[in-house]
Amino acid sequence: MTTADRAADGALALAERIFVMLDRGGFVATYKYAVLLALLDLCLELTSRRGEPPTSLTTRQLAEKVVQLYWPHTMPYGAGRSALVLRQNNAGQAKLVGLIARFRERHAPDPSASLSRARAEAPEAFERLVRGVEWKLIEMPLPRLQVVGRKEDRFLYQIGWDTAVQSSAVRAYQAGERDQFDNRILLLPSVGAQLVRLNGLLRPFIHREWAAKVADLNGLEEARLERFLFGADRQRTAVLRGPLRDLQEDRCFYCGERLQRRVEVDHFIPWARYPDDAVENLVAADGRCNAAKRDFLASGGHLGRWTERLAAQAAALATIAADAGWESRATATGGVARAIYAGLPDGVDLWVAGNRFEPSRHDALMRALRAA
Ligand SMILES: [Zn+2]
Repeated sequence: MTTADRAADGALALAERIFVMLDRGGFVATYKYAVLLALLDLCLELTSRRGEPPTSLTTRQLAEKVVQLYWPHTMPYGAGRSALVLRQNNAGQAKLVGLIARFRERHAPDPSASLSRARAEAPEAFERLVRGVEWKLIEMPLPRLQVVGRKEDRFLYQIGWDTAVQSSAVRAYQAGERDQFDNRILLLPSVGAQLVRLNGLLRPFIHREWAAKVADLNGLEEARLERFLFGADRQRTAVLRGPLRDLQEDRCFYCGERLQRRVEVDHFIPWARYPDDAVENLVAADGRCNAAKRDFLASGGHLGRWTERLAAQAAALATIAADAGWESRATATGGVARAIYAGLPDGVDLWVAGNRFEPSRHDALMRALRAA
């Protein structure tokens, strides 16, 4: 492999891990998008004259950037009296958005006010805002962003604190006692360069995911439109529930336990990765496994059993499809699985069960794919 190939591979591996991180359900607010976009922005802005991206950032820099990102979001959305600040949290408003919206109300009531004007007109209040946002970032998203399932995997940055961080230490540091708190966010080797390299891919992706999340949280028309244009029709797959249960001898495809009342039809290759409704891509799973798998790629173990089924039960699957007037596309579905799994670099988190994940291993995945 050439150096350029290796760099490209490293960037793709990072992109995969970021996709997994964004798919994760652990965050109720939109902070993961804000922090990721802020990291991306800072890596670009702080690239040196010699073209070298930064190796470390500070929580202060991140806080100012996050305020800047959320600033337009705190303008009332909609027309006339029904205009309001969009929610960015499952219940109530996200704390960061609330802080910025309150600052705006008090110090920049004109909705077209730019952040720099508001900052110049109310410097002390702005300083309080940035400190408040900095503390919130230190307390919550920064130590939790890199947790997938139960374990923390620091693949983007190292920080010197965890979720037990004390607000008194951070307040002391903000008051000028620099030894009270280490505010550095140390990017792992080559992460800065890879983020810069991925900018054109990640930025529109994060924008879209973030907008879709806000549309969903606020019941906006865009959410309906996206589901209409690109969503999976879960109602329709219900007709395959019975036949797939029979094929699987009434056991959950993932955990192997006997299926009880809540049985769901799951897309083995997640819809978000490739929208494939063919019977070959559908498995019956209990509600628990289906809810936990979400949009994650399943582990090599699951992949092995799935490719085995694809080969050994090709005729039975085709019959199920024919009886239900459904699509059967064994060859195309196998091709999609090969393309997606064979392209995965080592170390991407794959879903095993519940909130358990295991890192991908290219050689093991290639073995699991052999039957497909
Ligand atoms: Zn199960």
